[in-house]
Amino acid sequence: MERVIRRRRGFGRRKVCRFCVDPELNITYKDPSLLKYFVTERGKIIPRRISGNCARHQRQMARAIKRARVLGLMPFTVVTS
Ligand SMILES: [Zn+2]
Repeated sequence: MERVIRRRRGFGRRKVCRFCVDPELNITYKDPSLLKYFVTERGKIIPRRISGNCARHQRQMARAIKRARVLGLMPFTVVTS
């Protein structure tokens, strides 16, 4: 099955990796406040299509988040009742 979805919604969302745009932004597990932008409310990592990160930075980001989780800086999952 082949699905080609090319839809642009007027969210004004840029398909530009923000880490490429701003070289001073460091992806590190020590900065959960930054990583927080790339996880959902439930603590899941937002996929690249949505976050707009490039492959390299998305990977770095995922790694940082996973590390932060292990260190207890970020939740694995957030249970909201
Ligand atoms: Zn990038």
